[in-house]
Amino acid sequence: MAKKHVAIIGGGPSGLMAADILSAAGHDVSVYEAMPTVARKLLMAGKSGLNITHSEPYSAFIERFGAAKQHLQPALDDFGPSDVRDWMAELGQQTFVGTSGRVFPDVMKASPLLRAWMHRLEQQGVKLHTRHRWTGFNRDLLSFETPAGTIDVRSDATLLSLGGASWPRLGSDAAWVPTLRDKGIGIADFKPANCGFDLPWSDVFRSRFAGAAIKSVVTSSAAGSFQGEFVISKHGVEGSLIYAHSAVLREALLDTGKATLFLDLAPGKTEEKLASALAKANSKDSLTNRLRKKTGLSDVKIALLRELTPEISQLNPAAVAAKIKGLALPVTATRPIAEAISVAGGIAWSQLDENYMLRPLQGIFAAGEMLDWEAPTGGYLLTACLATGKAAAKGMLKFLKT
Ligand SMILES: Cc1cc2nc3c(=O)[nH]c(=O)nc-3n(C[C@H](O)[C@H](O)[C@H](O)COP(=O)(O)OP(=O)(O)OC[C@H]3O[C@@H](n4cnc5c(N)ncnc54)[C@H](O)[C@@H]3O)c2cc1C
Repeated sequence: MAKKHVAIIGGGPSGLMAADILSAAGHDVSVYEAMPTVARKLLMAGKSGLNITHSEPYSAFIERFGAAKQHLQPALDDFGPSDVRDWMAELGQQTFVGTSGRVFPDVMKASPLLRAWMHRLEQQGVKLHTRHRWTGFNRDLLSFETPAGTIDVRSDATLLSLGGASWPRLGSDAAWVPTLRDKGIGIADFKPANCGFDLPWSDVFRSRFAGAAIKSVVTSSAAGSFQGEFVISKHGVEGSLIYAHSAVLREALLDTGKATLFLDLAPGKTEEKLASALAKANSKDSLTNRLRKKTGLSDVKIALLRELTPEISQLNPAAVAAKIKGLALPVTATRPIAEAISVAGGIAWSQLDENYMLRPLQGIFAAGEMLDWEAPTGGYLLTACLATGKAAAKGMLKFLKT
């Protein structure tokens, strides 16, 4: 095999996966990374334990990618949840399945995995060029801003693995969007995914409850009904139970300017039981005390109920019980994309061939979060980034042989 020079631009999970495969195949691989170190978002994911994949049956797993399933399926068939776990084990990282079915490394962080991975890449001869920001093309060369000035690089094949647009301080700032649009590449605007939402809390509620968790609650929207907990934030609501609804709420806000999440604050109790308990409350007690004694709701749940139901003191027990079982939480806006865990939008699938090569740009491939797909939290994001990194690398191997 003739050794070719391959450029991987962006040192996140998708780029490093491609670098691994291409260097193992004997090519001369250079990874160009804008930041002083690679994989900052992977390391950030490690701060909450590194939920690397999910253990649910593959038939359910693949459905989490919604409309993008048809595009992602070949890559995920080739590198799915059990392959992710095998790959982790190869790198010395045993994994376990948490109570929710989510998969984590035993050490609950990303740094040992990244260290072992970077060591393997070094052994395979991968050259790492940090502080190299790709700025576009100079004819058929790749241009980078580096501490030593602008340089132009020739490659036989290039992977763009530049990430999405969330948490830009970790490196993926989507500055590449205009560069590729200028080349005629169709890119759907980035939108926040797995994000929090704004609500106009009163000053009193915000100052007392920002940071408090609403535990044991069922949240419902067109996305489904899920039980768990979420957090009252300064601006509104956040946490994985909110993220599970974020695509549906975001699209409703975009379409109609309105979106509502419904809460069952007392999942273990029926509306009838709550109504009859409230009917027996001592009318001399304050409303908060009646709710506390007769419904067992926590102080933060009672405060939320009162915050969202200003007329509650005029309601009869049956109506209060109905509110507890189906409290409307009208969100007003998504939190900014910079705060979102991930994004929707990106390079349109129509722009890629089946080998992940950009149709208008011969020899230039793309993978990871910069492509147009979204998924909930639960390890789906990293699995798809690794899988598309592998699929693009295989596409590049085919291209380099021709
Ligand atoms: C707080 C947080 C927690 C998360 N937790 C999880 C989790 O537990 N499980 C999960 O599945 N997912 C999680 N994610 C999402 C996951 O980390 C991302 O989906 C994944 O890292 C995306 O991989 P990627 O390779 O596509 O891009 P990225 O990881 O974003 O990497 C892209 C790289 O390209 C570099 N780059 C960008 N532009 C240029 C340029 N012009 N020139 C050179 N380099 C450039 C960037 O600096 C970056 O290093 C989390 C995300 C966040 C923000």
